[in-house]
Amino acid sequence: MNKKITVLKGDGIGPEIVDEALKVLDKIGEKYGHSFEKDYVDIGGASIDKFGVPITDEGLERCKNCDSVLLGAVGGPKWDTIDPLKRPEKALLKVRAELGLFANLRPTKMFPQLKSASPLKDTGIKDGLDLMIVRELTGGIYFGEHKTFEQDGETVATDLMLYSEHEIERIGRVAFETARKRGSKVHSVDKANVLDSSKLWRKVMHKLAEEYSDVEYSDILVDNTAMQLVRNPGQFDVIVTENMFGDILSDEASMLTGSIGMMPSASLSSTTLGMYEPIHGSAPDIAGQNIANPLGTILSAAMMLRYSFDMIEEANDIEKAVNTVLDKGYRTVDIAGKDENVTKVSCSEMGDLVCREIQ
Ligand code: NAD
Repeated sequence: MNKKITVLKGDGIGPEIVDEALKVLDKIGEKYGHSFEKDYVDIGGASIDKFGVPITDEGLERCKNCDSVLLGAVGGPKWDTIDPLKRPEKALLKVRAELGLFANLRPTKMFPQLKSASPLKDTGIKDGLDLMIVRELTGGIYFGEHKTFEQDGETVATDLMLYSEHEIERIGRVAFETARKRGSKVHSVDKANVLDSSKLWRKVMHKLAEEYSDVEYSDILVDNTAMQLVRNPGQFDVIVTENMFGDILSDEASMLTGSIGMMPSASLSSTTLGMYEPIHGSAPDIAGQNIANPLGTILSAAMMLRYSFDMIEEANDIEKAVNTVLDKGYRTVDIAGKDENVTKVSCSEMGDLVCREIQ
């Protein structure tokens, strides 16, 4: 098969981790007879420096005209003080909206080999922790109207959280369908005791729960979810929630696994075009040192093969290779913990090790 990938390396550690994922994709191509053509587009600070905007219209078009998009990360202190409308992160919102990427899948998996790196290792967390956060990505408060104005002699600011029935229904369907292929359990997270948008969210989810009666369904408030994720994360299979709650809860959940550097994500549309990226940011504190963990990005590439290209065996091959490398005791510094029996490796060495297992 021949697939065209638009590559958005971005800022900070973005270029380092994306290079490792591309290395792994090429190795998969070699083994299975596929070719992955790459189209490199600047995004974030890199694009601001060259073109004055976080992504150009032409770059956006190239994201639309490919089979899938692979992203590193954007942002950094250099661009923190520029006009908020031109900040690096604005590019992500634009790509998500223009490509219709309404469903963000964030698998949160505890690799048993990394249990010692989890700050929650002594609190009853199970080795088999494996949950999927399905986050709505193109609606809610991040996409509602933002306003700052003067009122009664002081500055006031407001952000609108808006959801329509169809937006809730389509993300709900993704969650129920995902649950059917996993543990058949959905927790829908909202704040229905306070917010009207959450009351509508709950009403639509209840209708879907009747339709998907084979899937066990529960409502749960977002504050309780935050607590339950730490107290007993093993109770969850699929968590579905709106944009901002999902953003916050998935960062919390990522820590259960030991390192944010391990976590992949997929942003899906109603077609096979998706965008795949690790859930972490550009980590400016470690950029340029070849010490970042590339596994979240490599596992994102595996999700690309599974969800956009229907290359299931190839995706499994990458995930198996990552497991084997961890089994053999190789660790980037973020997941090395205090274990003296592990071998510390750089970002590029980790990419090479995964490639070697795919051989
Ligand atoms: P971050 O995720 O970049 O870093 C948080 C901590 O985790 C840092 O200590 C970092 O060194 C570490 N870390 C992150 N990824 C790692 C990896 N692969 N390997 C090893 N360690 C890793 O979050 P932050 O520091 O809050 O944000 C830095 C910049 O990234 C900001 O400009 C922010 O706006 C941006 N950001 C971008 C995205 C994105 O592009 N999707 C997401 C979040 C934050």
